[in-house]
Amino acid sequence: MTETIAMPAPAPPRHHPAEDLLLDYASGAMGEADALAVATHLAYCPACRAAAARLDAMGGALLDTLPGAAVGDDSFAAVLARLDAPAATQPAPPAAAPPDIPQPLRDYIGPHFDGVTWRRLLPGVSEAVFTVGRQDRRVSLLRVRAGVGVPQHTHEGTELTLVLQGAFDDGQGLYRVGDLQVTDGTIDHRPTALPGPDCICLAVVDQRLRLTGPIGRWLNRFVTF
Ligand SMILES: [Zn+2]
Repeated sequence: MTETIAMPAPAPPRHHPAEDLLLDYASGAMGEADALAVATHLAYCPACRAAAARLDAMGGALLDTLPGAAVGDDSFAAVLARLDAPAATQPAPPAAAPPDIPQPLRDYIGPHFDGVTWRRLLPGVSEAVFTVGRQDRRVSLLRVRAGVGVPQHTHEGTELTLVLQGAFDDGQGLYRVGDLQVTDGTIDHRPTALPGPDCICLAVVDQRLRLTGPIGRWLNRFVTF
């Protein structure tokens, strides 16, 4: 029996990045934090992997027509190759549990949700913040107990939310493992975790998040989203 990547989940995601976002990603125009969210979605999503590879190939073909242009080792194709490569270059100890967290996110936050430092925000809501790239984007894991809602909020910029465990419903749609939700400041939403295991999401937001519900306005005084 060969050792393979135990993740991602078998069911393909239903919520994907729009093509312009995928193009930003494939062309390298996207910042590291957003790119991490998109790349982790790709780990779950064969359809977007194929689409991004096509876009990357188109970009590469364009570059080939430019004299003196060179594609660096960190090209999108190289990232894809790493995603598709077996994780067996460093064999895991025999007793190691399979990772909770897929690549490439695992490189930033480790293999298991229990290994990160959770900070309790509200009853049933915890958060772990990470440094990824420049500080204009806030990257965190949000862990929400079933039935609990994240306070109503809006954002100044684009918010990327990728489900890593469990599922949530924001009133507009149902999001399961691998689904990427992209919202902007025009949406005032209140995601609620569905029954089952804690809903854990990767959230990439603008540093200035605005909580808008009554509890949220009170929380704004304490939480530096
Ligand atoms: Zn997708």
